[in-house]
Amino acid sequence: MTKGLIFDIQRFSVNDGPGIRTTVFFKGCGLRCAWCHNPESIASYRQLSYDPTRCDGCRKCFDHVNGTGISMINNKAEVDMNIHDQSVDLVSVCPQGCFSVLGEEKSVDEIVSIILKDIDYYRESGGGVTFSGGEALNQWSFIEPLAKKLKEYHLHLTLDISGYDPGGLLPKTFDLIDLYLLDIKAAKDEIYQKYIRQTLDPKVMLELLRNKPVILRVPLIEDINDDSALFDMLANLVNEYDNIIETNLLSYHKLRKKQQFKLLNDREFFTVADFLKKEQWRNEIRIRQIRNVTMENELIFI
Ligand code: SF4
Ligand code: SF4
Repeated sequence: MTKGLIFDIQRFSVNDGPGIRTTVFFKGCGLRCAWCHNPESIASYRQLSYDPTRCDGCRKCFDHVNGTGISMINNKAEVDMNIHDQSVDLVSVCPQGCFSVLGEEKSVDEIVSIILKDIDYYRESGGGVTFSGGEALNQWSFIEPLAKKLKEYHLHLTLDISGYDPGGLLPKTFDLIDLYLLDIKAAKDEIYQKYIRQTLDPKVMLELLRNKPVILRVPLIEDINDDSALFDMLANLVNEYDNIIETNLLSYHKLRKKQQFKLLNDREFFTVADFLKKEQWRNEIRIRQIRNVTMENELIFI
């Protein structure tokens, strides 16, 4: 793969591994989590996005497609994103910049030149680079030469993985990746089937990662996956695998984006946890005495 399909490059990230980091978000994911914060990262192709708030009703897009999949309603374009999911030609048609493309192909050298801008910050803070997504693992054939190049600068490399690796790619990453962030999504099969469409056993990945440091990342969705079975599972995993250096509880945030695009997941909006609920989650950790668990970047004392 000569170019990677990138969804975003975020400089000065502080939540994707130690220190100050640049996080490269790769597009494409095999899972379909209903609570996905970045549903625009799921499709593994360049995808059209539409921002109706900028539309002035000029009709140029409507004429361009001869009315197929676009209607003019109250002097604004209504775009059927199922029809125009990949109509990236619309970007150059609209004078108001209502259309944009989600996903950009970038070469190793282009990404390295962005990453190296902050090399002094990585060195001073003990930071580095994180590959995230979507599911970055799926683009390992591109990341491998990128990671090799970054290793010439002795940068610390982290890989964020969903736990779903049907291609068996994970072992290929061991020579280059220093730290893994592993998502833990649920403990019960019915939750996986209903909200993710795929059941995962985190032990499959953890067995492979026994000789590597791992941070567990656990999105907590009130009354959906935050059952006692989940906290029991976390306690067992942390007890069984010494290489789990930390567990991050991530409370769900409702992000509503003005851009429209074809959704590939069955997105739902869930309850945002209040202070009391978060305190209950902290107590679940305390009563099980699970070591090194953070929530909102603060260690939970046990
Ligand atoms: S071309 Fe742009 S501004 Fe004009 S109707 Fe279409 S979306 Fe609206
Ligand atoms: S694994 Fe991550 S990127 Fe993929 S659908 Fe789930 S939350 Fe979204």
